Formats: sequence, structure tokens, C-alpha cells
Amino acid sequence: MPSSLSSIISSIFSEEKARALVGENGFSIVDYPGWRVLLSERMAALGIDPNSLLNPLEANWLHDEDRQGYLAQLDKILRGETERTQGHYRFLRLNNEALWLSISMRPLELDPFGKPTILGIHDEDISSLHAAQEEIRERLIEIDSLKDLLFAINKSLDFDDTIHRIIAHLHKVIPFDRATVQSYDGATLTVIGSYGYSPEHVSDLKFPVKGMDNPSARAISSRRPIICNDVINSFKGFVQVDIVNPVRSWLGIPLVYEGMAIGLFSLDSFVPGFYTDRHTRIASNVAEHISIAVEHSRQHSLVKEEARTDGLTGVANRYGLETIGQEIFLKALRNDSPLGILMVDIDFFKDVNDKKGHGFGDKVLISLAQAISQSLRVKDYLVRFGGEEFVILLPETSPREALVVAERLRELIPRINVDDKETCPTISIGVFSGVPSPQDSLHEFIHRADLALYEAKAAGRNRCRVWRPKA
Ligand code: GH3
Ligand code: MG
Ligand code: MG
Repeated sequence: MPSSLSSIISSIFSEEKARALVGENGFSIVDYPGWRVLLSERMAALGIDPNSLLNPLEANWLHDEDRQGYLAQLDKILRGETERTQGHYRFLRLNNEALWLSISMRPLELDPFGKPTILGIHDEDISSLHAAQEEIRERLIEIDSLKDLLFAINKSLDFDDTIHRIIAHLHKVIPFDRATVQSYDGATLTVIGSYGYSPEHVSDLKFPVKGMDNPSARAISSRRPIICNDVINSFKGFVQVDIVNPVRSWLGIPLVYEGMAIGLFSLDSFVPGFYTDRHTRIASNVAEHISIAVEHSRQHSLVKEEARTDGLTGVANRYGLETIGQEIFLKALRNDSPLGILMVDIDFFKDVNDKKGHGFGDKVLISLAQAISQSLRVKDYLVRFGGEEFVILLPETSPREALVVAERLRELIPRINVDDKETCPTISIGVFSGVPSPQDSLHEFIHRADLALYEAKAAGRNRCRVWRPKA
């Protein structure tokens, strides 16, 4: 009988039966430095070259990030520093798939200097344990980011800010490249918020949906998330808004509010095959919050729109002038461009009311407001300033051009039908236009148009007058 463990091991090495016995239980045995190696079944199945087990510097079975750890463990045990060591490493299958193994090493026999001559290596597959831990770690990040997210939403009433915060938080969990929030009106998707895009790419960008067969349309009609991991080949009709950095993977989540699709939340990635079901699950949670923000913002803007609208004529009122009108004024100031102002007043309107009744007077106001609206450009702004007085803001309009517009309206209005047989009374218009400077105000501009109106009235009505500085 062999007396030393070394000889026992030697005999094991030579016996097939024993080899199977040891190997099946996850044990590998290494004779050091003789380089005789008995691999466990799992190690053998990984295709590990037995000689590289103690020399893994170049080994392709070990994940690069784990190489240092494995080497350190080996080094400790071979120098006789410890009786037993343990570490967790990714071992790579031939298809490069990683298997997490817990590796324990233990000297089975020592030389007179206390260094191992025979090493026992035990491996255990901890892949599922590791996956569970990874899952817990990811969930914790999700919970954390959701907490931040709710805090952010509660803190901000501003739609753009809310959307940006929501997407920025989601980005911590899913490393997408770009995202958009689109509102849906039953036919078209309009980009109302974005992340990672420059404004000129997506500002007010519209995608038709009705009658289309593409993933956006499918997400909207099914009200279910859609993953498209190969946009270029399988998403026909995908609009690449940035050709330099094309989208390769796309995740679209419908925004649903009270059962209705009100928009779409899309995440773009430059990497093909990027999205997984996990991404869909997390992004869907976040999309619920975006839906609420979008719906609140829509209702908020409806209320704001209503507050800015004159109840009788449907054009803007004084509050509109103080908000949108001020924005138009500031834009002219910023752009150093002329802003034209028309002050319109109906001639002898009191008499019209007196003779034809207040109801007819109301109809005159409605018809006149409608006719003026229709004859203006989209960027012009019509405001019912008072009872029968209207202010019109004409961006980028010189005094001469403003007078042309005024004359056109003055001629148009008396030809407008009110009832079937009646027409509108004549109007007088005060005209002013100027390039605003920082010390100017919208009210000063309007005041000048009003002074010009006074002149028009004094000169006999049914005419236009341009403001001139007093000599
Ligand atoms: P002029 O401007 O040419 O000097 O004469 P005017 O008669 O139009 O001037 P004034 O400002 O004295 O009268 C404005 C009239 O507009 C008084 C008021 O009865 C009428 N008015 C104001 N708001 C409304 C309204 O909402 N509906 C009706 N029907 N009339 C209104
Ligand atoms: Mg008046
Ligand atoms: Mg009047």
C-alpha cells in the first residue's frame, strides 16, 4: 500500500473509476508542481485545459474581470498562506455564456516548507443564486429610482421639467440613448417632450398613426408595449430623425389614461438587440407616471386656454394679452424685429345697439372677430381689448405694412354679413409699429396705437391713422 497521500492520489489518477467518483462531486485534484490534474465533471465539461487550472493567465475559460481574483486566490494557497480559500468567478462556456462557480481551494498535502504539493479544488454552480442576487440588486435600484421619481413629480408643476426628471431617473435603470414623449390626438402622434435629442430634431415633430402599420401604431391600437430590436430591418417606415446616429432598437410604451391611449413613450437605443422584457416592465411602470403628467398638463393647458379666451367672440381676452401678447412682445425685443399694433374700434356702436338691439350688437362683435381672425396670419394675435375694441399684434411688421393690413380690414369689415340682410358697421383703426427696446413696454405700444385711433375718430371715423411722435 502507498504510504503518503501523494502516492494515494497518484493511484487515484491512474484509476478511471476513482476519477469518476471524485469528479462527479465537484472535486478537482491537482498534483503540484507535477501538473497532474484530475478535473471535476463540471470543469471538464467546460472544456478547461487541465494544465491551465493553476496557470490561468491566458486561459479563455475565465472571465477577464475575474482573472485577478482567481490568481490572488491561487497565489495565497500555493504560498501556503492559508488552509482554505474561497472565491466566486465567471467560468465561460465554449459559447461564451458565463457560469458562476464558487471555488474553494485547500491543500491536501504540504511539503516540509509548508507549501502544498497536492491541491483539492471544489467547485459549486452558484449561477442561479447569483442571478437571484442580481435581480434583488436591480429591484433595489428600481425602488430607489421610483422613490426619487415620485418625489420629483410631486415637487414640480412644470410639464417639461416633470418629464425630464422622470426620463432622467429612468435612465439610471435603463441605459437607453434617447427618449421621446408623444401625445396622441386620435390620428397623429406629436412629440411633446424628449431626452437626448436636440430641440431642432424633435420640436413639435408629428407622426401620422391612423391607417399606418408600424410598431407605434400597433402600440397605440393594442395599448401594449412593443419591442423592436432590429429597427433598420424590421421597422418599415421608421422615421430616423437623426441620420448621423440612427436608432437600432426601439421600445414603445403606450401612454394610457382611464383606458384611453393618450400618447406614446419611446426609448431609442443605438445598439441593436438592446431591449429585454425587464426593460419593458420597468419602463411601463414609469409610463404610468408619464401618462398622468401628460393628462394633467393637457387639462391644465385647456384651463389656461379657456382663461385666455373671450366668451362671446372666442378670440383672446385681456389675460391672453398679458400672457401670450407679452411673449410676442418679448420675442420681438429679442429678435430686434418690428412689432405692429392695430387698435380697432367700431364706429358709433352705441347707436347700433340702440337701434337694432343689444343681441344684434353681440352678433356684430362675433362676425367681426371671426372675419378679422380669418384674414390674419397664424403668428398674428387678435385680442378683444374691451367692449367693442380689438387689439391686433402683428409680429415682424413695419409701420407701412401694418397700415396696409389696417386698410385691408377697414375695407373688409363693412362688407361682412351679420344677419342675412345686415352688414357690420365701419371701423376706425389706430396703427403703430416699432422695434421694441428694453425700456419699452407692450402697454406703451398699445397706448400709441390708441392715440392714433383717437386721431382717426377725430378725423371723422371709418379711417386708419398711423401714430406719429408729437412735434
Ligand atoms: P365711437 O367709437 O365711434 O366714438 O362711438 P361708439 O358708440 O362706438 O363709442 P362708445 O365707446 O361710446 O360706445 C361703445 C359701445 O359699445 C357702448 C356699449 O353699449 C357697446 N358695447 C360694449 N360691449 C358690448 C357688448 O359686449 N355687446 C354689445 N352689444 N355692445 C357692447
Ligand atoms: Mg370704444
Ligand atoms: Mg366705438
